[in-house]
Amino acid sequence: MFNLRFDNAFVRELPADPEQGARLRQVEGALYSRVDPTPVASPRLLAHSAEMTATLGMDESDVTTPAFAQLFGGNALLDGMQPYAMNYGGHQFGHWAGQLGDGRAMSLGEIINDAGERWELQLKGAGRTPYSRGADGRAVLRSSIREFLCSEAMHHLGVPTTRALSLVGTGDEVVRDMFYDGNAAAEQGAIVCRVAPSFIRFGNFELPSSRGDHALLKLLVDFTIRRDFPELNGQGETLYAEWFAQVCERTALMVAHWMRVGFVHGVMNTDNMSILGLTIDYGPYGWIDNFDSEWTPNTTDAQRRRYRFGQQSDVAWWNLSRLAGALAPLFADVAPLQAGLDRYAAMYASAHRANIAAKLGLAECRDGDVALMDALYALMQQAEIDMTLWFRALADIDLQAPTLAPMREAFYDEQKRVAHEAALNEWLAGYVARLAEDSLEPEQRRESIRAANPRYVLRNYLAQQAIDQAERGDNSGIIELLDVMRRPYDDQPGREVYAQKRPDWARHKAGCSMLSCSS
Ligand code: AMP
Ligand code: MG
Repeated sequence: MFNLRFDNAFVRELPADPEQGARLRQVEGALYSRVDPTPVASPRLLAHSAEMTATLGMDESDVTTPAFAQLFGGNALLDGMQPYAMNYGGHQFGHWAGQLGDGRAMSLGEIINDAGERWELQLKGAGRTPYSRGADGRAVLRSSIREFLCSEAMHHLGVPTTRALSLVGTGDEVVRDMFYDGNAAAEQGAIVCRVAPSFIRFGNFELPSSRGDHALLKLLVDFTIRRDFPELNGQGETLYAEWFAQVCERTALMVAHWMRVGFVHGVMNTDNMSILGLTIDYGPYGWIDNFDSEWTPNTTDAQRRRYRFGQQSDVAWWNLSRLAGALAPLFADVAPLQAGLDRYAAMYASAHRANIAAKLGLAECRDGDVALMDALYALMQQAEIDMTLWFRALADIDLQAPTLAPMREAFYDEQKRVAHEAALNEWLAGYVARLAEDSLEPEQRRESIRAANPRYVLRNYLAQQAIDQAERGDNSGIIELLDVMRRPYDDQPGREVYAQKRPDWARHKAGCSMLSCSS
């Protein structure tokens, strides 16, 4: 059963903490600690990803067995699994935080599937590890649903991301103070099995470097290049420099995708940055409804808004600079690291322009188009316009007689709509004039707009509705939402309700517009 072939390169090739188990400790000279999941009361499968099941080479019939829920609820292990928690540090909200590590994530092992791909399986919420720092190592149902759904939604949107195989309810209670205001409550516990070719983060390199352990740092860099970047060749500093530049480029592409679809990560600490340029650690993330470059869903960051939507590309650069600093001991001179950061800037700029062209349905992005898009974003922010609905509706503009009619549904506030109507019409006239100079045929233009601008995104209130339902014992909302998000760029007749703008009741509701790190 399950038919998984393990090849645990990370634990095989890298130094382990000599002590096993979950006793809290500072771990030096080692990149991980062996620790087993802590069993739960009554694991029950709430949802799974059919795509990920198939990718891993498992059968759909495996998924419904009690053994599956036991396994991915942390109550059993397969031969070949060697659970471990990674040791890493990180910069949190701009400050070095020292050792963090997997406080409640535990990798079960790496498998090689029939296509020869490497996939690491990791449980989130499976109990304490040496890195739990006094917390319980568990995860609540609401945040597990959010991680499960968003991982798969992002994948189908074409955004680089870690994946999710399963969502298992534990049958145990977990106590959380959701808004850190003294109102702790018992919530249902859950465990997500997430999946990625690698879960190595910027913080994995920062920790040994911060301790001056350059030998350990070098071991990890060499391993990462060997396992996760096999396409790179060369030697020594040249290889390291090219690898760092690749990390920079991948990070740029990831963030450009976020900006295209309106995703706000919410906690871009360096321990939440994947070395593969994958979106990782879905916590208090959110989706843009009314366009607002200042918005962050994370109440923990509401004052400074460090991780607001419009600042994500700058923050990614800052995070890469921290990684560069951590890698500097491996270089005689910082010039190659600077060159990598320059590759970030260049890749982000070109991806940003590609986004503009695709979102507006243009064959190419000219200099004037950047200004055209900036003007649109400014207007959308002032007039409170829904990002997803607006861009999708651009495909339906009548070029002979352009009006704002296709975008009617995108407005949140009638007064603001009226106040900005003239300016929006003016923008539209400029846009249509620009289209007249463009080489795309009308049908190609519509295709481009629809391929770059999803009809369905995992709006915060949609996820919250599925959560409310699941907390009452009905997981059908999760399953339906997962299915809708499988084809985010297709119009799905009968599912219009999932494409609507945020309803008024959700504007300031917990979970819909405000989230905290408590999960
Ligand atoms: P996050 O904000 O989720 O990226 O978490 C930051 C750090 O806190 C990581 O080292 C996590 O492993 C750890 N952490 C978060 N929640 C818990 C928890 N409930 N139990 C143990 N560690 C946790
Ligand atoms: Mg994290």
